Amino acid sequence: QVPVLTIDGPGGAGKGTISSLMAQTLGWHLLDSGALYRLTAHAAAKHQVALDDEPALARLAEQLDVAFPVENGVSVTLLEGEDVGRAIRTETAGERASQVAALPAVRSALLQRQRDFRQSPGLVADGRDMGTVVFRDAPVKVFLTASAEERARRRHLQLQEAGVDASLSSLLEEIQARDARDTQREVAPLKPADDAITLDTTRLSIPEVVDWMTELLAK
Ligand code: C5P
Repeated sequence: QVPVLTIDGPGGAGKGTISSLMAQTLGWHLLDSGALYRLTAHAAAKHQVALDDEPALARLAEQLDVAFPVENGVSVTLLEGEDVGRAIRTETAGERASQVAALPAVRSALLQRQRDFRQSPGLVADGRDMGTVVFRDAPVKVFLTASAEERARRRHLQLQEAGVDASLSSLLEEIQARDARDTQREVAPLKPADDAITLDTTRLSIPEVVDWMTELLAK
């Protein structure tokens, strides 16, 4: 079996950064499962599919024409050949992603596509249900958390660096709203797998988390 390291947790806990660093360090493939939900929501807007039309959204998810080619060392996100990397990263796109992600038919439509990322020599899988649903048999499962305040602060910094104005208090509200939707939904609610190890990163730096995870894998 090809090994999988699952990294689940709420938005803004550092999963994206940590997952891609771990994939680089290990020389493993990377699955950014959140991007698939973001892309589904984006495709819905493009094709004028309503965010509550579950059968149509599931068809869209099933037929999603996406590719993640690496160009000049950076990974590019293509939807129907168009670079949508920036468009799917906005707060609104995250909110819309979380709406389509609450629909069971959409989740099952994306299941096999996610499992197909499991290729030699290994996979780092970043998401909400990697350890509980998609890769239930993964040998190493991590659940990354951080306080909502810290996650809002990190997001704020990120946006500032990107030259985007946003208020800390509205970011905190958005994070709390998304947490609530992700943990309270009926299908694949956000929670640690029974065999996951939880790490609170509130007071940890990125290198500290990477070191901790590298040690965990070596055990
Ligand atoms: O991680 P990211 O912020 O890109 O995910 C966007 C949204 O997609 C999340 O808020 C969540 O609702 C949904 N998602 C999910 N399951 C995953 C990954 C993301 O439900 N495995």
